[in-house]
Amino acid sequence: MSTTDFSSLPLKPGLLENLSSLGYEQMTPIQAQSLPDVLAGKDVIAQGKTGSGKTAAFALGLLQRLNVKRFRVQTLVLCPTRELADQVAKEIRKIARQIHNIKVLTLCGGLPMGPQIGSLEHGAHIIVGTPGRVEDHLLKGRLILDELNTFVLDEADRMLEMGFQSAIDAIIDYAPKDRQTLLFSATFPTQIKSIADRIMVNPTMVKVESTH
Ligand code: ADP
Ligand code: MG
Repeated sequence: MSTTDFSSLPLKPGLLENLSSLGYEQMTPIQAQSLPDVLAGKDVIAQGKTGSGKTAAFALGLLQRLNVKRFRVQTLVLCPTRELADQVAKEIRKIARQIHNIKVLTLCGGLPMGPQIGSLEHGAHIIVGTPGRVEDHLLKGRLILDELNTFVLDEADRMLEMGFQSAIDAIIDYAPKDRQTLLFSATFPTQIKSIADRIMVNPTMVKVESTH
């Protein structure tokens, strides 16, 4: 067994079977370097290009920890745009295919509030959204993060470029201190270092240049 086989990781059997049915056999370099720490519950900063497989690197961590019987928000993933949030939600649902009754909800700006409010009243395990809209739902008390265990910043550099820093800071105030924080980015400007210093604890740094 090679160390880049998913089966070398301490994953639930259902997740492993599903990965192989999806044709995911070998981890990509960023997955191989980040997943051991992600699964150990550590904070991780992972830098890698588009297409390097960053979504599965955090999706497997949050799905391994998720308690589907507890119908509360356990994970929040922030993305810069609605398109990216939709892609991430789709990939999480794909990897979670064998977990029954799992609810992944997207909360993005530029869409009507009504359906999102209705969905939040119904509940979710995983929220994927854009910072402004997520902050709005938190301020109005519609989204409760008391049981959050994993917080993910995806494409953090783009979120900062788009001016979401203050929304991210506001959102963090609603999250429990005892949580895992994962930060994914294509680049690592000083602004990212400063946000990481504020919201992460002893993060492991992973940097991968190539995609394969
Ligand atoms: P990134 O977020 O780094 O840009 P994605 O997470 O969107 O990359 O992954 C890019 C593509 O690679 C997706 O279509 C995903 O389904 C696929 N993929 C990810 N990990 C693997 C893997 N280990 N084996 C095969 N395909 C994978
Ligand atoms: Mg991505």
